[in-house]
Amino acid sequence: MLGDSTMSRKACVIGAGPNGLAAAIVLAQAGMHVDVLEAESTPGGAVRTLGLTLPGFRHDFGSAVFPLGAGSPFFSSLPLIDHGLQWIHSPAALAHPLDDGTALMLERDLNETAGSLGVDGPAWDKLLRPFVEGWSDFAPEILRPVSFAPRHPWLMARFGMVALRSAQSVARRFRSQRTRALFAGLAAHSFLGLDEPLSAAFAILMAVPAHAVGWPIPRGGAQSLTDALCSLLSTLGVRVNISSPVHDLAALANYDLFLCDLTPRQLVRVGGKRLSESYKRKLERYRYGTGVFKVDYALNTPIPWKAADCARAATVHLGGNFEEIAASEKTVRMGGHPDRPFVLLAQPSLFDNSRAPAGKHTAWAYCHVPLGSKSYMLEKLEGQIERFAPGFRDCILARRVFSTADLENMDANLVGGDIGGGVLDLRQSLFRPTWRHYATSARDVYICSASTPPGGGVHGMCGYHAAKMALSRMSRR
Ligand SMILES: Cc1cc2nc3c(=O)[nH]c(=O)nc-3n(C[C@H](O)[C@H](O)[C@H](O)COP(=O)(O)OP(=O)(O)OC[C@H]3O[C@@H](n4cnc5c(N)ncnc54)[C@H](O)[C@@H]3O)c2cc1C
Repeated sequence: MLGDSTMSRKACVIGAGPNGLAAAIVLAQAGMHVDVLEAESTPGGAVRTLGLTLPGFRHDFGSAVFPLGAGSPFFSSLPLIDHGLQWIHSPAALAHPLDDGTALMLERDLNETAGSLGVDGPAWDKLLRPFVEGWSDFAPEILRPVSFAPRHPWLMARFGMVALRSAQSVARRFRSQRTRALFAGLAAHSFLGLDEPLSAAFAILMAVPAHAVGWPIPRGGAQSLTDALCSLLSTLGVRVNISSPVHDLAALANYDLFLCDLTPRQLVRVGGKRLSESYKRKLERYRYGTGVFKVDYALNTPIPWKAADCARAATVHLGGNFEEIAASEKTVRMGGHPDRPFVLLAQPSLFDNSRAPAGKHTAWAYCHVPLGSKSYMLEKLEGQIERFAPGFRDCILARRVFSTADLENMDANLVGGDIGGGVLDLRQSLFRPTWRHYATSARDVYICSASTPPGGGVHGMCGYHAAKMALSRMSRR
């Protein structure tokens, strides 16, 4: 808690994404008076649920599945269940169908998954078990700035030994093409080429929570998580002011602290003269990553998967084998558009009947495209769904397509359709967005979006760490 003198201080949080809301909670818990200013008419940023197609259908505009939300040390410390959040777990975390009409399943249980992987079961188990069993130590380590003096050195050294490598090199320990395909789909969440360093880290960071905490969806959609955070904030006396875009910090008088849930490009604009020229130049050098092309579907029936097992998982990876997924990701990294893109698909209404009218369904799918791409990928994306679920197009009642520009129009942080707040390669995982991390050149201005450590995903840990840093520095002044 702050001392009496600082308790009367006022903070302004700009942006009501999960990181802005997390920062606001930390500051309000410390006794500060907090205002949250959000540009859009609904809080949540990329954690919103909207009626995007037909009446009665509810779609997650951005994030849909929440391994890091459920596993976040900060969110887990909050009484979000008392504020209406309810996690739903599909029986399996993930399905990865193949052309032979079968599907690999990432079961919630590590033993069960290892058992289903046959000859690769022991290797899968050996790779993941230390992190699954050590999740409560592992999660806080990976969801903060990279530390060269970790609290759990043995665990983190073990992680570093595989994480720094490429998915391609780590996948060599698997003898079956099938296991390699599953690993490739997980690694493709990195938006990196699968032959690039660090891409293996993402496969591990996706697989471990599947076995440790699951890949749940919130009942009612992503908005339920945002609403729970806002409801908690209201009990702390904080109101989220919607339709309140901030154009210039200089126009906001009377605040002692600014926490900006913005990416570097926006911070340069909004920060204006408050930021030094050299700091702004560094922010301008920050690199955004890959974009996405996204489609939301209202469906007449469940998706007619060839592999019936796919109906046991809320998330499905569509891309075929390792080589195909690696080639598709490489094409995108080199600025091209693959004919057979890797597609991430969620089918929440199979497990949550609040998403669609009785008997009807929703689906959410996206593929990776170059930053700012204007290509219309619908045919190619649906081609991949049809490949594993023939007859899919006949189930479509309505669809809503989002180009990279459409995404950015709905949430200014999705620059060029980048959903991760910037490339997360080796350099930008250490210097995110600069060596200062959350601090800026102005001592009362902090950045707290996914463009700070630990990066993209819904976990609120960027906001949590930024607010903790701001409070600690303020208490020393
Ligand atoms: C299509 C898509 C799919 C995704 N899938 C998943 C998933 O399944 N699981 C997962 O964990 N993550 C997923 N993500 C990523 C995740 O949603 C983001 O990493 C996360 O939302 C980042 O949180 P944030 O608070 O940093 O930013 P955002 O959620 O982008 O919030 C930023 C907020 O700031 C507001 N803002 C911007 N500029 C201003 C301004 N000038 N004034 C006032 N307000 C402003 C915006 O309107 C927005 O509300 C997905 C994202 C997208 C877009």
